[in-house]
Amino acid sequence: MTKKSPITVAHGDGIGPEIMAATLKILEAAGAQLEIETIEIGEKVYKRGVMSGIEDKSWESIQRTKCFLKAPISTPQGGGFKSLNVTVRKSMALYANVRPCISYHPYVRTTQPVMNMVIVRENEEDLYAGIEHQQTDNVVQCLKLISHTGSERIVRYAFEYARSHGRKKVTCISKDNIMKMTDGMFHRIFDTVAKEYPELTANHMIVDIGAAKIAAAPHLFDVVVTENLYGDILSDIAAEVSGSVGLCGSANIGKHGAMFEAVHGSAPDIAGQGIANPSGLLNAAVLMLQHLGQTDVAAKIQNAWLATIEDGIHTGEIFNPQVSHKRANTTEFSDAVIERLGKLPKYFPAMVATEERQMKLPDIQMPPRRAKKLEGVDVFVDWIGAVNELAGNVKSLSNSLKLSSIDSRGLLVWPEAIAKSEQGDHWRCRFTPANDAAPVTHEQIIQLLQSFLKAGVEVIKTENLYSFDGVRGFTVAQGQ
Ligand code: NAD
Repeated sequence: MTKKSPITVAHGDGIGPEIMAATLKILEAAGAQLEIETIEIGEKVYKRGVMSGIEDKSWESIQRTKCFLKAPISTPQGGGFKSLNVTVRKSMALYANVRPCISYHPYVRTTQPVMNMVIVRENEEDLYAGIEHQQTDNVVQCLKLISHTGSERIVRYAFEYARSHGRKKVTCISKDNIMKMTDGMFHRIFDTVAKEYPELTANHMIVDIGAAKIAAAPHLFDVVVTENLYGDILSDIAAEVSGSVGLCGSANIGKHGAMFEAVHGSAPDIAGQGIANPSGLLNAAVLMLQHLGQTDVAAKIQNAWLATIEDGIHTGEIFNPQVSHKRANTTEFSDAVIERLGKLPKYFPAMVATEERQMKLPDIQMPPRRAKKLEGVDVFVDWIGAVNELAGNVKSLSNSLKLSSIDSRGLLVWPEAIAKSEQGDHWRCRFTPANDAAPVTHEQIIQLLQSFLKAGVEVIKTENLYSFDGVRGFTVAQGQ
């Protein structure tokens, strides 16, 4: 007999308790080997004055079991409350968001009848680090930080997921034609890791055409791996066109555990009526059983669920008189799934439990150290006036570093302007060695900044320019 896996379960708010009860009943009937610890999260906890929505003792349970099956919660309105989802995501270092988006045509209405894709979204980095600054009256910045380790971790996860789940293709989606360094590194790592999986087809798409194709031709995709922002948008497009947002479960995989939940919210409008569809949470529980290695139970439940959908037993929100035979409430639906445990679907492909489903995820190593050389500095300044006047003011601030260019938000404006420059207050002055062969030192940069101060030109920030093993580690302005 399989050893029981400890898991933490939260019944949540709104329809949460109803769909969790239905899901747990099916898990038990299917023979899932689980040791369940129940915790309370959400509204009631927030109302007790716990601003994070989760108490310490509940948190200890999640840290102990490292596996969290979570029903949706209602996010309280008003200030001061912290998002429980963000707290859990950060504390468990949930780096991968995995969302299968499948269309169940002809049983569930959809514009895309052929669709069975999984989006693997990086969950910790990118523009979502929330590092933003107002720099001038006119300009605000948000930093996009992408690490080699974070990219390799998510890319390896996607390939391992594809291999262990019998998938055939992994598509990387990025915008490396524009963001050559950040997205370029993500794409390069993808190409390198792909070589370790010769049995899988690997390809790349630029995010704009990728999004269009997901919306119009989702059959082209199998597993998609992408950065945080693109993944956020693409997974919603995919879920929407599948027609099955309410049926989608998602997995959040982390360094310190994993969390599984439905994609939908707590649906307060139908709470307490016993009519909610438990399928989103049940599909999340199937992902959880796969994660725990109980792949036979996962397949048994998934196949019984598919057979139920094929038999036209549908909850109200997907009921369609052309294909539905029974408008089931939550209990009737879960009982129908239980009755079909052991049966296989006739129309949809059955899920097969295979031994090789365990994923091999190595510890990710830091990239090797390279020879890092200081090549110059970008000095960002707040300045209102003519660019030539700015250039005249800062050109002679240093003997050892020369002003080589000025640009406005990436567009070259000095020494030549490639376009008629707009008015602005945000300029980047690039300084490189006066004598091209001479090394640049940090002392020279500090002296340069002191000269800016004396000249009355306000420095917003600086960015050192480095090369790594002789390869330039910075981009040039458009037009340079
Ligand atoms: P929602 O997903 O809860 O509801 C949107 C619509 O879908 C509603 O009409 C609802 O009745 C219907 N619906 C959702 N799930 C259903 C199901 N299982 N069966 C049948 N119908 C279903 O989105 P919302 O109304 O924007 O948000 C409600 C609350 O949920 C908010 O407090 C929100 O913050 C919270 N929320 C929580 C999570 C989470 O915990 N992960 C995610 C999203 C929203």
